[in-house]
Amino acid sequence: MRLRNIPGAKEEMLKNPFIVQEPETHRGRWNEVYPNRQPLEIEIGCGKGRFLSELALRNPDINYLGIEKFSSVLLRALEKRAEMECTNLYYLRFDAEELENIFDKGEIGKIYLNFSDPWPKARHHKRRLTSREFLARYQKILAPGGVVEFKTDNTGLFDFSLEEAESAGWEILAVTRDLHRNPEMNAGNIMTEYEEKFSLLGNRICKLIMRPGKEDGKGTL
Ligand code: SAM
Repeated sequence: MRLRNIPGAKEEMLKNPFIVQEPETHRGRWNEVYPNRQPLEIEIGCGKGRFLSELALRNPDINYLGIEKFSSVLLRALEKRAEMECTNLYYLRFDAEELENIFDKGEIGKIYLNFSDPWPKARHHKRRLTSREFLARYQKILAPGGVVEFKTDNTGLFDFSLEEAESAGWEILAVTRDLHRNPEMNAGNIMTEYEEKFSLLGNRICKLIMRPGKEDGKGTL
């Protein structure tokens, strides 16, 4: 997904009206970024923004923030954003390893992870966005009843994610290894760029929905 060396990408990040600048200053006050005070949901590794653009248009009563590490990729999401008539979608060029510096406890209603990088080498597993290290970060910023929704075609990464969730004491609320043939979980599904590419190759799409802790019992699915 990383597009290298797009001239002007970094400069665009500093002046584009849909990029949030100095995110640390919004910690605990993200609602002030948006005109409407309503729940905030984030996608980590949003890539070119297709998923989040559609989600934001479908749900004007939710605020969305797309987080992406690379300016060159985010540039494509910003091109889409410029064509959209909505006030509930912003983007952030940021590494999710630092999430706790920009979000306060309980500030996020839902986290979307779509086709996250697989980091195949064992020594890099803690960089996976569903590793126990990341789950601990999510647990701190999710509101009570808040969930993580994760999609991938990579069965190794999916198995790893289920194991990490179990070790971290997360509750799996829903799971499928063939999303597009699961009418219940596929209802309202928005295809991401990678999802379209890999399903056209014949790969099955896995999805899980999970939340921290097995005992809190107050989910809002
Ligand atoms: N979600 C998109 C999709 O499904 O089409 C893009 C998937 S792409 C394989 C993964 C994206 O996550 C890349 O754009 C990558 O730069 C981004 N990413 C990976 N690790 C990240 C991190 N720690 N923080 C923010 N973005 C990250």
